[in-house]
Amino acid sequence: MSDIIIKWNPETGQFDHSLPPAPLKNLIEWNEETGTFEHTGPKPIRCLHFEHGYEQAVNGPCCYQSIPGVSSFTEMQQHPVYLKIQSSFAQGEWPTNYCTACSDVEKLHTDQGYSKRQATEFHYRRYIRDNIDAYVPGELYFLTIDAGRYCNIQCRSCNPYNSSSWIPERIAMEPRVLYSLYPDNGKKVFDVTYYNNSIDDFSKLKHVNVLGGEPLYNSTTNEMLEKILEAAGPDVSISISTNGTVSYKNVPVLKKFNKVGLTFSIDATGPAFEFIRTGANWENVKQNIQDWVDLKGSSYAGVHPTYSVLNIFETVKLKQYFVEAQLNETNETTFLTYPDYLNYSILTERERIIVVDYLNQNNLSSAAKVVESYSYIPENRNRFFRFMNHTKEYHNLDWQTSLPELYNLMKP
Ligand code: SF4
Repeated sequence: MSDIIIKWNPETGQFDHSLPPAPLKNLIEWNEETGTFEHTGPKPIRCLHFEHGYEQAVNGPCCYQSIPGVSSFTEMQQHPVYLKIQSSFAQGEWPTNYCTACSDVEKLHTDQGYSKRQATEFHYRRYIRDNIDAYVPGELYFLTIDAGRYCNIQCRSCNPYNSSSWIPERIAMEPRVLYSLYPDNGKKVFDVTYYNNSIDDFSKLKHVNVLGGEPLYNSTTNEMLEKILEAAGPDVSISISTNGTVSYKNVPVLKKFNKVGLTFSIDATGPAFEFIRTGANWENVKQNIQDWVDLKGSSYAGVHPTYSVLNIFETVKLKQYFVEAQLNETNETTFLTYPDYLNYSILTERERIIVVDYLNQNNLSSAAKVVESYSYIPENRNRFFRFMNHTKEYHNLDWQTSLPELYNLMKP
């Protein structure tokens, strides 16, 4: 699509760079004196997802940014919205109203890399360094597949859009928790997002990510991975985010790929885990994780917790478990914002001070910073209490026993 930006010259032992056409010009210059590359002109914002990624579930470069009306990577790259973001990035500026999930995080945490973009920046640099001859801007290297919304559990922070088994519960909780009605189209299992994959070139794929619902529980996962195996071969690395309740053996094609990573969504341990990941059994999940970790070779075992008000006091135990279970925590950190009755806005000023103090004392200063950034919203707190009552009645799960420290802090 456009020229190679930088190329290693084995004869001179230096990088040669053929500058691409505007707007990506004057990005990088080699400084003879310092022996490093320096940015001249505006420092561009580089995003691996934006430049080489496609996420089926939203039809956009990543889960945070959809591009309206497109249904493939190829179409996306021609779309005016995509070109607008591209132009802003080239000027080193965040586009207004786009990619705000990353810009908000980066503005708040200027000293640490917590955004989705920053979390993959390292891989981006490493990829270009290791594949300098093969690097071609505009090619599809990273694909995120939507495996469908069938899911076997009802995590407290989830909803019918992402989990089929949430539908009956949502209907039951509407009048007594939300005082509102869920749209009718939310009362059926959402279809897999349409993906016109016949026009995208899979042959250059480097990495495929599979999201759900629960990918190991959805029959479409095996089917799509078979297609990718055929087009791109077994060296494409595969990663799957899973709730840990289903064994990896449920997707047989996984064994045909050379590099497979499972990332487990674990936000707490023991009874707290079973409360937050409602319907899951902690001992079974631990066993599934252990089975995967025991599969040596090129398998990877990661973990991606979501931080919310529910696991404020569980994080220390959680991190100990990660070490014991040999799980690698992902670089990207997710702090829950929705539903708003599970974010930090439900804490009163007094509770916020206690929580921030607790987090700082336990070396969780980044979480403390996020907690501090919220203001108290009484209506969210009221909804939270109604939701806890509902969870007790509907699932027979009592936050007083499952999350005792949080209960003692907030006692209704
Ligand atoms: S939202 Fe973030 S990760 Fe997604 S395309 Fe924009 S900058 Fe990249």
